[in-house]
Amino acid sequence: MKKCQVVLKSGRRRNCSTSSTMITNVRYGECQKNHAANIGGYAVDGCGEFMASDMEGTTGALTCAACSCHRNYHRREVETEVACECT
Ligand SMILES: [Zn+2]
Repeated sequence: MKKCQVVLKSGRRRNCSTSSTMITNVRYGECQKNHAANIGGYAVDGCGEFMASDMEGTTGALTCAACSCHRNYHRREVETEVACECT
């Protein structure tokens, strides 16, 4: 029996017959809010990664410290890590 670790991107899963542990990491990438929508254009603020402006559990946890946009405007990335025992 050999230990292995498989990292899967965006929710694809591999079936493991033996016991496996799923770890899901969610991070928020670049801001995609269109700041020029009111003039019919398209311009983002260039914020590269969401960083909470306050602690988890407060309203500030959903606001980006860098661009002050809501977290929903940031691209959501889900990384699924599967640690399993393979034969
Ligand atoms: Zn922003």
